[in-house]
Order: sequence, then structure tokens, then C-alpha cells
Amino acid sequence: MSAATKRHLARVAALPCALCGSMPVEVHHLMSGRVPGRRSSDWLAIPLCPDCHRGRNGIHGQQAMLKVMRKTELDLLAETFQRVCAGIERGQA
Ligand SMILES: [Zn+2]
Ligand SMILES: [Zn+2]
Repeated sequence: MSAATKRHLARVAALPCALCGSMPVEVHHLMSGRVPGRRSSDWLAIPLCPDCHRGRNGIHGQQAMLKVMRKTELDLLAETFQRVCAGIERGQA
């Protein structure tokens, strides 16, 4: 893994959950559009708390959180990019 990729993953892991805003988070890799059987790129990572990630209503479960918030995985990815870029612009590592 490149140093730039490690930095990006560390920035994602420092963000609050993309669905409910709680901390700490786990890093979820985008499932949409991936090659079956392969994990998507580390640059397609989304911060999710354990509940929103692996819980019953989480993204690997019934995805009720996504439905309630009327968002897709791609919406969460876009917000993640916005938050990471905003952090860089503010000078936070
Ligand atoms: Zn959450
Ligand atoms: Zn995941």
C-alpha cells in the first residue's frame, strides 16, 4: 500500500460515521460496482460506526439506515471526499 493510500485511509478513519455521525468508525469499502469477489479500492472507503457498518440495519445488513436517510452508498462516498478535502484545506494532516 502506498504512503498516500495509507494517509487517505487514516483521514477516512478519523471522520465520524457517514450515516449517524457517531465515533469511532470502521472503514467500509464501497460495494457498488465492484468486481465480484474482490474488495474495492482503498480510495473508495467510507467511515461507518460498527452499527451502521455491520449491525442488523447497517450497510452489510438490511440497509435500513440508508433507506431512512434516502441515501445511496455513492452519496456517502461523495460526502466522505468532501469531508476529507475540507480537512486537508483546513490543514488537518
Ligand atoms: Zn453510524
Ligand atoms: Zn464494509
